Amino acid sequence: MSKNRDLYRRIMAMESRHFNMCFYCGCIATEYDFVPPFKLTDFYIRTGEEADFYEVPACNECHTILKEDKSGLLGQRVDFVKSKLAKKYEKALRVYHLWHHDELESFDHNFQKSLNAGIELGTETYERIKFRGFEFEVDGQKRHSNFVEEVKLTVFGEPFDHFRDALDYASKSYRVPKAKLKDLFAKHQNSFDKAITAFQKEFEEKQLEKKCREFAKAHKQNPNFVIRTVKLFLKMEESFTVEKALEKIYNTYIAPEAQIQQTLTKGNSMTVKYSDLESAFDFVSFGSYSDNEAYLSIKTGKIYWVSDNIDEEDEPLPDDLYQSDEYIQIPNKHDLDLGKKLVFDFVHQFLASDFETVSQYFRKQGAYGRFKLLLERREKLDEWYKFEEQENKKTLLEWAKESGVTVTE
Ligand SMILES: [Zn+2]
Repeated sequence: MSKNRDLYRRIMAMESRHFNMCFYCGCIATEYDFVPPFKLTDFYIRTGEEADFYEVPACNECHTILKEDKSGLLGQRVDFVKSKLAKKYEKALRVYHLWHHDELESFDHNFQKSLNAGIELGTETYERIKFRGFEFEVDGQKRHSNFVEEVKLTVFGEPFDHFRDALDYASKSYRVPKAKLKDLFAKHQNSFDKAITAFQKEFEEKQLEKKCREFAKAHKQNPNFVIRTVKLFLKMEESFTVEKALEKIYNTYIAPEAQIQQTLTKGNSMTVKYSDLESAFDFVSFGSYSDNEAYLSIKTGKIYWVSDNIDEEDEPLPDDLYQSDEYIQIPNKHDLDLGKKLVFDFVHQFLASDFETVSQYFRKQGAYGRFKLLLERREKLDEWYKFEEQENKKTLLEWAKESGVTVTE
């Protein structure tokens, strides 16, 4: 026993400020930790397993924790004690990392008190875990201890000594909630840069989905189709933004469909000016029965005049004028029963006593000429023109309505 005891050499701090200090955590040392554990000395000797055989000043807590550790090297025992402390004070560390005293003012008194205590304990624990030991000598020989790696914390190049400060800075600068950032930090190899990038990517993904869903709703599209297609466009075209991709979806899939729908709804409801319709009607009603024709395009509202007397070069006609459903023929006054019938309607109303005479006219050729002369004699010519115009209009408008053509003044 005493023989084994002689194997151990006490380590001595080089600087006076480290005297009586726990080598593991920097607290006041009250015990000595045996490296390797004293009860395992025989095992280490027998097996030749590497061991330091140091007597290391330790605080009560580290000493107690290290009773569970069987390692024989100081570095291994440092790692063990740090990981145990981190685990034991996990909650306090979390409170310390996420909260500042001045953020607690709005809380209920008791909750404030417990959070403040957590922050205190967390601060102390963080310092203990970060503690890097000290330089010491053994048997008059100086040893260099480098067991605790100095963690270089940076947030996109900005250096920090304390995790809490780095977290605070990163959270504020990159708008990531602290708790979320802390989790991502651990998940991404303890790198703030990777954690922030991951968060931004996740955020962008969510924004993308949100925008796609809104777009899908507004344009009655399947949201999954929109999300999938936007992602595809973004992959294909690096300079694309989500907005640009949505615009492309609109132009590629939605606008053409909407245009067809619009044409279908409008369909035959192309508008045409009454004066144009009237001119065309006069044109086809003028002269002998079927010399003149006129056609209305239900797509453009344009009226094409067809006559042997019109030079086609001035007014080219569509090639499919007689085949396509796009063109409807403008009726003449006979088609609309506005010839003889109109005359008799007028006579019935305004020249009742001449009814027999007019009937005679219409049994022979040149009836309209003689009817006009009669109107002149009776001073009813103006009234006739007015009547004729009104009746034509009434009938033409009815025809237009039946043909699905909207007429404007
Ligand atoms: Zn300690």
